[in-house]
Amino acid sequence: MFNLFLFARRAVVASLTAAVLCSFAHSAEKSTPVDARRLLNAANNNSEWVTYARTYDEQRFSPLKKINQDTVKNLGLAWYFDLDTNRGQEATPLIIAGSMYFTSAWSKVFAVDARTGKEKWRFDPKVAGEKGADACCDVVNRGVAAWGNSVFVGTLDGRLIALDMATGKEIWSVQTTDTTKRYTITGAPRIIRGKVLIGNGGAELGVRGYITAYDAATGKLIWRFYTVPGNPAEKFEHKPLEMAAKTWNGNWWDQGGGGTVWDSMAYDPELDLLYIGCGNGSPWNYQIRSQGKGDNLFLSSIVALKPDTGEYVWHFQTTPGESWDYTATQTIILADLKINGAARKVLLQAPKNGFFYVLDRKTGEFLSAKNFVNVSWTTGLDAKGRPTFSPESFYATEPAQVAPTPIGGHNWYPMAYSPLTQLAYIPTLEASSRYAQDPNFKTNSRGWNTGVAFSNATPNAKSVELASKSNAGAFLLAWNPVEQKEVWRIPYPRPGNGGVLTTAGNVLFQGSADGYFNAYRADTGTKLWSYIAQNAVMAAPATYELDGEQYVAVLAGLGGVAMAGGGTPPGTAVLPRSQFGRMLVFKLSGRDSLPRLAETGAKQFPNLANADASGDPSKGREHYDRVCASCHGPEAVTSTAIPDLRYSNAIISADAFKSIVIDGVRTDKGMVSFASVLKPEEVEAIRAYVVSRVAAAKTTAAP
Ligand code: CA
Repeated sequence: MFNLFLFARRAVVASLTAAVLCSFAHSAEKSTPVDARRLLNAANNNSEWVTYARTYDEQRFSPLKKINQDTVKNLGLAWYFDLDTNRGQEATPLIIAGSMYFTSAWSKVFAVDARTGKEKWRFDPKVAGEKGADACCDVVNRGVAAWGNSVFVGTLDGRLIALDMATGKEIWSVQTTDTTKRYTITGAPRIIRGKVLIGNGGAELGVRGYITAYDAATGKLIWRFYTVPGNPAEKFEHKPLEMAAKTWNGNWWDQGGGGTVWDSMAYDPELDLLYIGCGNGSPWNYQIRSQGKGDNLFLSSIVALKPDTGEYVWHFQTTPGESWDYTATQTIILADLKINGAARKVLLQAPKNGFFYVLDRKTGEFLSAKNFVNVSWTTGLDAKGRPTFSPESFYATEPAQVAPTPIGGHNWYPMAYSPLTQLAYIPTLEASSRYAQDPNFKTNSRGWNTGVAFSNATPNAKSVELASKSNAGAFLLAWNPVEQKEVWRIPYPRPGNGGVLTTAGNVLFQGSADGYFNAYRADTGTKLWSYIAQNAVMAAPATYELDGEQYVAVLAGLGGVAMAGGGTPPGTAVLPRSQFGRMLVFKLSGRDSLPRLAETGAKQFPNLANADASGDPSKGREHYDRVCASCHGPEAVTSTAIPDLRYSNAIISADAFKSIVIDGVRTDKGMVSFASVLKPEEVEAIRAYVVSRVAAAKTTAAP
């Protein structure tokens, strides 16, 4: 007999249960603090993305597969969120309890609804515009960390700030750097058991690197680990620096030393080890920095630390005596691999120096390495991973051409690893660069402080030959870390292509510098889908599932280390540098569409009829390379948010040019006065050089 009463009662119970579950889910979305368990379980948490690279092992692999090799063709825009800046976008968003938290240029933080993109709050730390001049590679930020009911952001001017996750109100703020030095923060903090870990950058500008742990609740400093020794006449802050100091020479402490921890970290909860990537020497020039002698620990090293105390456990140095800006700050990924038949807990890194390293992450033992782009700085590595240098790659006596470039075989653009394909996916750049001793080097001068002149002389013929093996170009490389070999590659027309996400749907997502967001098969690299993002995509995507719907989110916005974008190659998207950044979020059958790209008229060169540039352009080029090129692009060409000076009306007039370069009238926009490093006649020479570049562009047809 059909029991209507029972049926009705069941239905009520069912709907009550649904209501209770629903309201539970809803309240859970609002109020559950992020804790150690949530971070440790991140791999199984498909509705959230709770730390920078999704999990402590930083693989950027998601088990989600609704969007997969078959369905990805139906991907469409779910929503987008417009940003207020045309500066670079490098952040990976966090997704917590239905909200998305991400950072933008100038260390601003945004919280939006992860389903709709509706803004919840925004936070502007109000970094002074002039701080922009201390950023080697644009005023970018790579993301927040979360703990308890707070999110944490490191700001360009060196603060670490805790914000209320619900309101965006500041809870505490600490200055993590010496504000008299040219430190910056662009990296995302990480959090282990309530300790917020934050590094900094500035190794082009005379700083000393370190990482600090702060109490997430109070902002109290818990420990600090310096990556290079200070002056031995003063007491070393911790024991490993005694060992490190034996590998340095001269008065390196006056120069800062470098070794900044500006990006990568990873954590193994079982071994309870924190891994940090350390940056290049400051200055780059080994001769100036350390009399050309010694390994200079812990430059270009991966260091393992105890996260509760900052105690040193082991290190592995990728480039002893670093001389080419070869940071080891690139993505650190932890994976379990079978090597020679044995299961090994390994650490993977593809740093700037062009080698893919596999280390035992318990001991730091070198297991294997192989170059993934052409390298000319070394003739090879020994059984312990120590390189033999090509003598032609040092530039103290003769200029040298060296591969890879200071931008690296791989830069900050996050690499990913799939435990399913067992491949690492590396955004790479294959190229070489000229290095020469800078005759004008002055410690702590206002411009870049690298001790390297890039273009004032002809490089050593042998070095040119070695470096010329480069098959110049930018690629996404699929790499087998066990066999240490390339499996496939996807070429791109421009350098500076985005970070990578891979999923159990056998999909790989990567944005490109020419303005697309792409999906490929993770096993074969076959292109499955592509979306015109109307802007360069440098940032790495994140993915999450809410109400049974899988989303893929990525920031679009040109800038960063690839500021020197050059012209637009034929057949690639046109990316006006006036275009503001956006958060783009996709789902299957998404129906939203981006407003049409703003029409921008063709840029006009200024009328040079009255330019009266009487300075010496070749001298001007030397000063330009020393002071201006790092932002405004080599050869006075750039296509990003930093003005391309060839289009500036200020180059017509000596007074107008001087008011900017010497008097600093555009300080609030990041263009500070360079009076301390440029004499008036040098400024005039630079102006003459830029004017000559306009003339050159006019005769070769503008890009
Ligand atoms: Ca650097």
